Amino acid sequence: MHVHLWILVILPLAGTLITFIIPGTPLPPLHTGEQGAMAGVVIFCFMTGVSWFAYRTAHSDFAASHGLFVVGPYSPPPPPAEPVTLLPDRAREPVLPGVEAEFQKSKLALNGLDLATKIFASVQEGIIITDASGAICSTNPAFRSMSGYADEELLGHNMRIMKSGRHSPEFYERLWHALHHHGQWQGNIWNRRKNGEVYPQWSTINCIRGEDGTIRYFVGILSDLTLVQESEEQLKFLAHFDPLTELPNRILFKDRLHQAMTQCRRTDQLLGVLWLGVDRFRQVNEAENRAVGDVVLKAIGARLKQALREGDTVARTGGDEFAILATNILEVQHLTHVAQKVLSALGQNIKVGDQSLRLTASIGITIFPMDETDTEGLLKHAETAMRQVKSRGGNGYQFFTRQMGEIAMRRWSIEQGLQTALDRQEFFLHYQPQFCVESGRIIGVEALVRWRSPQFGLVAPDQFVALAEENGLIVPLGEWILREACQQNVRWQEQGLAPIKMAVNISPRQFMHDNLEQVVAQALRDTGLDPRWLELEITEGLFLNDQKRVRSVLTKWRQQNLHISIDDFGTGYSSLSYLSNLPIHSLKIDRSFIRDVAKNPESATITRSILSLAKNLNLTVVAEGVANEEQMEFLRDLGCDKVQGYLFSPPIPAEDVTAFLTHARMGPLVQALTMAPYVECRPARERSQATQASMLLN
Ligand code: C2E
Ligand code: MG
Ligand code: MG
Repeated sequence: MHVHLWILVILPLAGTLITFIIPGTPLPPLHTGEQGAMAGVVIFCFMTGVSWFAYRTAHSDFAASHGLFVVGPYSPPPPPAEPVTLLPDRAREPVLPGVEAEFQKSKLALNGLDLATKIFASVQEGIIITDASGAICSTNPAFRSMSGYADEELLGHNMRIMKSGRHSPEFYERLWHALHHHGQWQGNIWNRRKNGEVYPQWSTINCIRGEDGTIRYFVGILSDLTLVQESEEQLKFLAHFDPLTELPNRILFKDRLHQAMTQCRRTDQLLGVLWLGVDRFRQVNEAENRAVGDVVLKAIGARLKQALREGDTVARTGGDEFAILATNILEVQHLTHVAQKVLSALGQNIKVGDQSLRLTASIGITIFPMDETDTEGLLKHAETAMRQVKSRGGNGYQFFTRQMGEIAMRRWSIEQGLQTALDRQEFFLHYQPQFCVESGRIIGVEALVRWRSPQFGLVAPDQFVALAEENGLIVPLGEWILREACQQNVRWQEQGLAPIKMAVNISPRQFMHDNLEQVVAQALRDTGLDPRWLELEITEGLFLNDQKRVRSVLTKWRQQNLHISIDDFGTGYSSLSYLSNLPIHSLKIDRSFIRDVAKNPESATITRSILSLAKNLNLTVVAEGVANEEQMEFLRDLGCDKVQGYLFSPPIPAEDVTAFLTHARMGPLVQALTMAPYVECRPARERSQATQASMLLN
């Protein structure tokens, strides 16, 4: 277009110049008329060219940019839009020509504006724009929500309305200096919300300058740090405190203990660490629900705090265990008082909803600097002493002794050894025969686990069953015992021996495990044992647990023809009310009563009562631990149904039981035994039971 324009102008101009202005141009000779016509054409062309040029240029960018021939109102089109860098290169090439291009550009600009508005309104960060004097021009909703002010309460007001007063004048000096010299400031500012609350904000402030370089606006982008700060504080709290009781945790306790020890070294005073374990807490937790357990722990924490002096520290060190740091102790005797005070504080009933629980505790005590000189050692020894109290039945306190340390060490080693014993097949079973008092025949055996440890030799179950119960190993171990015992009973039956009941002990933890019913069913299925030849021994402690579940499991077992007995009866929970309601078959009187039955009137009374109670409830009674004839006589007179004890046989290997079963066909063993003189009858544990049985029967 421009090329044509210039040709139209230049050609006539050149013609005119050649014709009129430059004299003596060697033009071909023309007539006057011809010369006039020629000049007319040239002038016409010239004028046309000039006017067209004027018109076109008046509407061109050129005119606009050079201030030429502006005709009518003219606003320059926006500069060509920057190509969108994310598009491929061909998209950057000049866009559509003409109106379409203009339209596209405006649309893009509008879209951009719309987007910016939306971002301004929706970002989580607060945005505030002020003019150079600090008067607020605009804020976004996030800013209004964090400051608590409405739009109209902010617009036109100075930023100062939000000042917290927490910063020094030097702080603001540094801020303004950075803004004026570097155009930006970043940092943490404490501001005040409308409700007066002071809160921290992470702020980035930028200057917007005018063309002349002076500051026109300040734009602040602010994030509320309250939540961050709260969660930091929460984290700090969690790192040092127990969230349930809000007492210090083990970490903080150790820290305080360390400080107290340093102090003691300077003052030559003593300090005591009391390690407290709540007795039978697990049963409370399982019998009720965790929420009840939580209430109990909170109440215990509060009572401990109340019972102790201000300067003492009470911590929850985990689960149902607490630690107490008693400082400024002048005599060891003082620690006894502390322990007694704590025990009596815990002895009061704890109300949970409409029920009230009474709990006891076991306390182990160590003294610094007598027992140990480092924090870990002190804590470990106090815990060992506490375990000692627990093993004696709980509800008491005990100072740590060196000997205890050795016991604890062995206990720890046994626990370690137990972890691998199952995989290494170090467990095996012995079986203790049970006899019918009336017929004198063997009617069953009780499977009792033994551990042959490469490190400790033969280990009795009372040394490891409780540990396995604590660390959960009893679940897989119990499963193995059950299967092995069922298998052995099937083997005897396959040998054509008289079928007998196989009694297997089920520990409380094993019973409460979800898969117990499945494990029993699977063992019966896999071994093919008829359920009526399997007896499961449970303990009274189980009835402290979820009674509904216990009842439902027992009912199912009874329906499947399994035999259920209560072991060690008379030593545990001993609530007689459950006996009439539960689907059980027999009671096993604990051997501690049988042991003293002939010497101790109390034991005799208890045994008599159990026997009469069982008769009324239509339950059979097994007396365990029958070790002499006197006891046997006593039990026979009272009508005891079955007996089990060293008088007849200790627990023996499966092969030795075979001899009993073989002889069972020949005659009643119990009668033979009771007719024989006591000294002869007492079985030597080491002697083969087969030999013994035949000797007694002959
Ligand atoms: P328990 O179930 O009451 O087993 C009877 C215990 O009394 C056995 O001790 C047995 O050897 C002992 N005993 C039997 N007759 C006499 C006697 O005349 N005099 C004396 N002094 N003791 C007698 P053992 O085998 O040492 O087992 C102790 C406890 O360990 C068992 O008491 C039981 O609670 C637990 N236990 C043993 N085996 C298993 C098992 O396979 N599973 C589970 N969960 N616990 C087991
Ligand atoms: Mg038993
Ligand atoms: Mg028992």
